Amino acid sequence: MLDQNQINELRAQPVAAQKLFVDGAWTAGSGETLPVVSPIDGSVLTTVVSASAEDMDLAIKAARNAFDDGRWSRMAPAGRKKILHRLADIIEREALALSVLGVRDNGTELNMAFKAEAGSAAATFRYYAEAIDKVYGEVAPTASTVLGLIHREPVGVVGAIVPWNFPLMIGAWKIAPALAEGNSVVLKPAETASLSLLRLAELAVEAGLPDGVFNVVTGKGSVAGEALALSMDVDVLTFTGSGPVGRRLLEYSARSNLKKIYLELGGKSPNVVFADAPDLAQAAKISAMGIFRNSGQVCVAGSRLLVQENIHDDFIAALARHAGALNVGDPLDLASDIGAVNSLTQLQGNLDFVAKAQEEGAHRYLGGERILTDTGGYYMEPTIMTGVRPGDTLARREVFGPVLAVTAFTDEAEAVRLANDSDFGLAGAVWTADLSRAHRMIRAMKTGVVHVNTYGGADGTVPLGGVRQSGNGHDKSLHAMNKYVDLKTAWIQL
Ligand code: NAD
Repeated sequence: MLDQNQINELRAQPVAAQKLFVDGAWTAGSGETLPVVSPIDGSVLTTVVSASAEDMDLAIKAARNAFDDGRWSRMAPAGRKKILHRLADIIEREALALSVLGVRDNGTELNMAFKAEAGSAAATFRYYAEAIDKVYGEVAPTASTVLGLIHREPVGVVGAIVPWNFPLMIGAWKIAPALAEGNSVVLKPAETASLSLLRLAELAVEAGLPDGVFNVVTGKGSVAGEALALSMDVDVLTFTGSGPVGRRLLEYSARSNLKKIYLELGGKSPNVVFADAPDLAQAAKISAMGIFRNSGQVCVAGSRLLVQENIHDDFIAALARHAGALNVGDPLDLASDIGAVNSLTQLQGNLDFVAKAQEEGAHRYLGGERILTDTGGYYMEPTIMTGVRPGDTLARREVFGPVLAVTAFTDEAEAVRLANDSDFGLAGAVWTADLSRAHRMIRAMKTGVVHVNTYGGADGTVPLGGVRQSGNGHDKSLHAMNKYVDLKTAWIQL
């Protein structure tokens, strides 16, 4: 049970000016800084270093040295396992402090951040700690005169670039499997969500992770991020963020050392509600949270609601009742269901999408406005736009905000057509009591994840990743470990 007094004490603590975490120590780097603006009230919390390309190169060198001398890469699996378990324990110990710090930085409602950020990060480190001595190479079924061994070798230096919506959770999805396989990591957080990841680096050293194995370099994507992606000494780059940046990373790889690039990009995920859903009231409630939690700043958000025509009006009314009852406000107040939008730029973008949708003929059914302006923070009402046509901007572009696009359909064939009429393919859902229809929809939907009679909530045992322009790599599950190894064949004549 979270305690409001404890949260209030933590939020009152000043945040020192931040440094870079390189080779196990804090360093000021270039000396240039970026302000950290809290979306809760628009105040400047502290500063982070705006790392230069030279700062990034130093971190990559530290990671390379750590990798080459084997302090981690050749540590016995049992040793690596112990350290990652210890890190999970420490994250659990620090869970509230880490979550409050993260929320002050990025605005996610604490009720969610506590589970999805610190809780999930601890679980992720534990999961991959456990996997270290359970996932290993193979002996191939060759002729008896030879022996074919398939070794799994760490790739070397892994660069990770992450977004601001769930920095600790998404960071852990990349750092934990990369470290479990024996790699060194250089991580570049988003400009507007660095604090919890910087703290994680310090906790990793406390857990016993050798110096240089995990480095955090903050700063601008166009400078620090670009330097990481263009480096000739980074072997794999694992990214979560927007499509346009993902495209650039592929170019950077082509212009440098052809490093492998794994992309987890955006979505416009269809949430398909059939009239035969087992419990329409429950479907309306969960669909509301499926789009509005974390102010819609969730990659898998069910941002395109496709509703069967004969239940459309009643369903939208029920959904709007839930959405309208959500308490939007200070994310560190436990009474808030929904927190702040991450930045003023993001908020303005959300409002522009609403205006554009109206221009294109959609109906503003609920919300659509900035609220709580007097707090100085960035808050927006849950917004429902009905009558959105498949070609409209709101049906095609990712908002990454609390804006739901609603379109009606008549039958299953039309539902499939609309669901797949997208450049994206990250997630989606189908609500139906008909088992055969559920399985048909699972097969027909061109997305990396299909929820049935729920939205969201997957744990670490299953992969998360998209198809089409939602990306090419999977985080989570044992499959994610394969991104951070090279397979080496040994062919031995007996
Ligand atoms: P973004 O692409 O703007 O930024 C992501 C990261 O890339 C940041 O750290 C940024 O500094 C860095 N970056 C920016 N320009 C760069 C460059 N030229 N070179 C190298 N790095 C650069 O995305 P965002 O606004 O932080 O996050 C929102 C996006 O992330 C949305 O599209 C969302 O759908 C996506 N996302 C996807 C998933 C998933 O698992 N598929 C999860 C969460 C968020």
